[in-house]
Amino acid sequence: MKKIIDKLYNKQTLSRDEFIYLINNRNEEADEYLFKLARKRREEYYKKDVYIRGLIEYTNYCKNDCYYCGIRCSNKNADRYRLSKEDILLCAEEGYKLGFRTIVLQGGEDPCFTDEKMVDIISALRNLYPDCAITLSIGEKSYDSYKKYYDAGANRFLLRHETADEVHYGKLHPKNLSLENRKKCLYDLKDIGYQVGTGFMVGSPYQSAENLADDLLFIKELNPEMVGIGPFIAHKDTPFKDKKNGSFELTLFLLGIIRLMVPTVLLPSTTSLATIDKMGREKGILAGANVVMPNLSPMNVRKKYMLYDGKVSTGDEAAESLNHLKESMRKIGYEVVVDRGDNVRVSI
Ligand code: SAM
Repeated sequence: MKKIIDKLYNKQTLSRDEFIYLINNRNEEADEYLFKLARKRREEYYKKDVYIRGLIEYTNYCKNDCYYCGIRCSNKNADRYRLSKEDILLCAEEGYKLGFRTIVLQGGEDPCFTDEKMVDIISALRNLYPDCAITLSIGEKSYDSYKKYYDAGANRFLLRHETADEVHYGKLHPKNLSLENRKKCLYDLKDIGYQVGTGFMVGSPYQSAENLADDLLFIKELNPEMVGIGPFIAHKDTPFKDKKNGSFELTLFLLGIIRLMVPTVLLPSTTSLATIDKMGREKGILAGANVVMPNLSPMNVRKKYMLYDGKVSTGDEAAESLNHLKESMRKIGYEVVVDRGDNVRVSI
């Protein structure tokens, strides 16, 4: 294990078989060894800084029916909401005052937010906050739409590929969605000039070690600025309600691997990690992550953006939860900073 981890640390390329070996043989000793190197590498580029992203979950309407997701269109128990432009601007204002310099708009694929509306919202944010990065996480769109949002001022886009294996993709999604289009979107986004983030769920139903190795190889090939991974967590109103949750330990291990494989990557310690372990956020940072995405959505809608059961939402106001976050990061030797937190590869 150590030999293969050293290879990664020395910036050598691993084969598919080596990734599979790592995934199948992880143990506590390997974890410790990996995490130490992952922290060392992350600190070379990003010191002890933790970047924060203000997450605004602006709609939980979705036209898609992904089998794993709590806001899938077939879930009639979901309590649907949409934020108005004014609501979104208020959330951003609060975030800015608190020191957020990246605003993330995330939502289901909601046809009500036409390109015109999105461009209007993005332009307003761009005018109000010229020093902020604007990140979108709004799913699959045409090249033209992505270009319009970019021209309006969006800089980054998060679109997890979910799984790099066609067959596995088909087990997680209905037939109208394809891995081919997902990948096309990612390459379109890159071509337009976005900083791009991709990723996958760890332990999604039917996932094998081979699938995970292919996910890592795809990430290596795409070479994104950001990668988001988190454990799959079952949602009671989905076809996967009885499926096992993903492994916390394997998620941490993969965070460490991704840090070594794409050294400059912006890597969040995700809410799903924090949902399955109360020290999840801290442990994610200690495994090589360097980003946290606190929720800026209004209190009355937070519980409605339920992608999976038990999704943590502290009930704290944004200011209070940010103070907790700062304190918890300080305790493990890291510092939440006021910064756009761009990838060091990107010059603005
Ligand atoms: N609609 C946009 C998209 O498709 O990229 C953004 C929102 S989508 C809900 C954000 C991410 O949530 C997905 O990429 C997926 O990986 C994750 N997610 C959905 N259901 C989940 C579950 N049950 N457990 C863990 N993560 C989940």
